[in-house]
Amino acid sequence: MLMSHPAPTASLASLENSGEFIPRHIAISPQDEAHMLSVIGEASREALMASIVPAAIRRSQPMQLPPAVTEAQALAELKALAGQNRVLKSFIGQGYYGTHTPGVILRNILENPAWYTAYTPYQAEISQGRMEALVNFQTMVCDLTGMDVANASMLDEATAAAEAMTLAKRSVKSKSSTLVIAGGVHPQTLEVIQTRAAPLDIRVVVAQSKAEWDAALAGELFAALIQYPASNGWLVDWQADVQAIHAKQAAAIFATDLLALTLLTPPGEWGADIVVGSSQRFGMPMGAGGPHAAFMACRDAFKRSLPGRLVGVSVDAHGHSAYRLALQTREQHIRREKATSNICTAQVLPAVIASMYAVYHGPLGLTRIARRVARLTAILSRGLAQLGFANGPFGTAFDTLSLHTQTATATIAARAMAQGANLRKVGSDYLCISLDETSTRADVQLLWSIFAKDGQALPTIEAMDEGAPSLIPDGLQRSSSFLTHPVFNTHHSETAMLRYIRSLSDKDLALDRSMIPLGSCTMKLNATSEMIPITWPEFAHIHPFAPADQQQGYAQLDAQLRAWLCQATGYAGVSLQPNAGSQGEYAGLLAIRGWHASRGESHRNICLIPSSAHGTNPASAQMVGMQVVVTACDEQGNVDLADLQAKCEQHSAKLACVMITYPSTHGVFETQVKELCALVHQHGGRVYVDGANMNALVGVAAPGEFGGDVSHLNLHKTFCIPHGGGGPGVGPVCVVEDLVPFLPGHATGGITSKTGAVSAAPLGNAAVLPISWMYIRMMGAQGLQAATETAILSANYISARLKDHFPTLYASSNGHVAHECILDLRGLKDSSGVMAEDVAKRLIDYGFHAPTLSFPVANTLMVEPTESEPLAEIERFIAAMIAIREEIRQIEAGRWDREDNPLKNAPHTAEQVVGNDWAHGYNRETAAYPIPALRRSKYWSPVGRVDNVYGDRNLFCSCVPVGDLSE
Ligand SMILES: *Cc1c(COP(=O)(O)O)cnc(C)c1O
Repeated sequence: MLMSHPAPTASLASLENSGEFIPRHIAISPQDEAHMLSVIGEASREALMASIVPAAIRRSQPMQLPPAVTEAQALAELKALAGQNRVLKSFIGQGYYGTHTPGVILRNILENPAWYTAYTPYQAEISQGRMEALVNFQTMVCDLTGMDVANASMLDEATAAAEAMTLAKRSVKSKSSTLVIAGGVHPQTLEVIQTRAAPLDIRVVVAQSKAEWDAALAGELFAALIQYPASNGWLVDWQADVQAIHAKQAAAIFATDLLALTLLTPPGEWGADIVVGSSQRFGMPMGAGGPHAAFMACRDAFKRSLPGRLVGVSVDAHGHSAYRLALQTREQHIRREKATSNICTAQVLPAVIASMYAVYHGPLGLTRIARRVARLTAILSRGLAQLGFANGPFGTAFDTLSLHTQTATATIAARAMAQGANLRKVGSDYLCISLDETSTRADVQLLWSIFAKDGQALPTIEAMDEGAPSLIPDGLQRSSSFLTHPVFNTHHSETAMLRYIRSLSDKDLALDRSMIPLGSCTMKLNATSEMIPITWPEFAHIHPFAPADQQQGYAQLDAQLRAWLCQATGYAGVSLQPNAGSQGEYAGLLAIRGWHASRGESHRNICLIPSSAHGTNPASAQMVGMQVVVTACDEQGNVDLADLQAKCEQHSAKLACVMITYPSTHGVFETQVKELCALVHQHGGRVYVDGANMNALVGVAAPGEFGGDVSHLNLHKTFCIPHGGGGPGVGPVCVVEDLVPFLPGHATGGITSKTGAVSAAPLGNAAVLPISWMYIRMMGAQGLQAATETAILSANYISARLKDHFPTLYASSNGHVAHECILDLRGLKDSSGVMAEDVAKRLIDYGFHAPTLSFPVANTLMVEPTESEPLAEIERFIAAMIAIREEIRQIEAGRWDREDNPLKNAPHTAEQVVGNDWAHGYNRETAAYPIPALRRSKYWSPVGRVDNVYGDRNLFCSCVPVGDLSE
């Protein structure tokens, strides 16, 4: 792979074939590689691979992918593909609206690696900036909805509504299993709920008329879901309905719109129990359906079973307030099949953007934007009424009109399209029009001209504006204030906003500063050239329900990427709809469930899961109504085949599937995986292979070839979509031939399947798919395989270099690991009192984000360097780890106190180190500059160690009152 100096007469072909991917994505040079191999004790990369990957599972043939091209060529090719999308002005609405992303937010957050390459904020001390932004998001949602607690964030509005359904089911007194849905709910939301409800035996009753609604509320129910404003735009007062729902001991769930709520009475003021919605129109482009941050807010009594991530305020070791993830005991990592939901990766980056949109505009700016939209809508409505089209059925609206166009529907919709505008067709008799922040006077005039019959005089904006009544009924006008906290009332100049954004990102460690060696999470390069296309207008400004002929670019992107992922995995079919790994798991298990049912074997509901599995596995199994049976791991960390066999035999008649991770979460290529798959198949079950560890497999082995039936991938791990501080993600579900008919469908988006929709949009988080497309296109089959092999090389190098300091817990018989290694720190507790967490926090003083802490084994650190880290950075990490081990030896030798030492007191803040009080048994230099390399560059944690227990006991999840934070 060495790019040697080309000779003066080197041919054009050889110069053009230099494999540009090598230096960009794979940071290990051939010289580095030779050195690393010698430390590991292998002669070549091929020999290393042969000694690690079981021969039985090696790929039968290389991946068939288009040959790698340069960055410039890939961008040009993708641009041509994007050009096949046609961006029309969207008046479709239905949960997706035009929005202006303020430039200061676009460039300094969405396009800024300090924000988009950050990891999920499990390490609170190095995540204070993004957690402040998320607390702003939660405060914004609480204020606008009128609710007590809000999370940060949900995957999309439809899945948020489905999660609200199960939250209600868990929380209310009613024993009914009926969910009542008011007819005004977005169709995609209804679809996702129906998919979710079926395996849980929840009956969904949709009330299409007032009479049906009253009848449904008169019966038994555990919750009712209401869209307010309705999908078709109308507004009514639901207060009495909330009381009727409560009288049944049931929960009132609202799906709503944050911009509308700046003007409308919030559902919280009617006594709503749960409120969900999307924050998309707060600055995130439509992007064919995602990524956007959805939200969920609930009343206080429900907070301990709220799904998703919740940021709370706690205190640090110095008594100052500090943020951290709250109530993590609700989550799948700990609660597994009893978790409140399977959500892991959420939508952090879009949530940060939405929160910043509110910070930038403030309550007055948001209200002005909303008033302008409402005013334009009122003007449009009055003009349309003059042209013979009245807004029905109630004559009320915020931004959406519903027009009974009857037999003229198709003609008007076609005329609109010819003029560059998409309207929403509802049945064959109605057209809906939604306005938004980007709507103009010219748009309104265009719409009038589209609706006018030949020769009909057009209204004028001025005439319609004058004296036009508000379409928001008096009783629904909001009177309560919102966003009163100073953060929403300070940063309105661009200078102030720029500095606020910068001040937050400066507090955090992301990939733009140091490696993030997170096992299982694959924090690799997110190349800039991969990120650039996501904001191209041809991708960004497409409505997910725009007609198919306007989305040809996305259709091709989808088809190509799916074909390439089939090559990478050895499967026959893929759906890109799931918008996180957890959702891919859920979709994959639905496919297995559907397949069994199609063969008259619906009774097969046992899901075997090894004890080492990621928490999302059991949490997902629970969502499809499967019963989880845990199987053991042996002393080497492998799935205990004897135990698995015993459980297969015991549950043979009811076996649905097994869920394994390969290579295992213990970081080892188990040699008997083929036998395991065969065993499960013998008993009539299917094999789910969790694909989170595909970074050890791409180009080397394919789950679809060695016995897997279904896998999900994490494009935000293996295929370069950045983590965004905890999302967005994409979790494609991949299946073998006979399961293809059971991949997710999407009736609203025109995809039919035996399985229903699992996401609000047919292509899920479509707008970030160009990232993975660019990666594969620039790498080609050889580049991807080299990436895998280099990732494995680097993990083995770290394992070898640290073996005398932190031994690797599990390895294959020849001592090798896969693409990650678990460092065993369990012995240190007795010898020094040091726990893995102390090492994790001490690494912050050395400028590093900790490896994965205590997963899958308590008191260990799981390290995954990836192929993208240069050897120099790997050495810096190794040096830090060895220096920390020396510090532990000081404690072991009794030179430092077991309680008062640099590890227990880590991380050290600047304020603490320069403070006048220093009463520790080690000096300040040891605290802050333990190794000379830090003099060149030093990251200072803004807070000391954060107290988790305090924060959970004193739960507080909104903006801190001024004066409480240490600065
Ligand atoms: C990350 C991960 C998941 C969950 O994926 P999300 O995208 O976070 O939902 C599942 N299994 C394993 C092993 C993982 O590492």
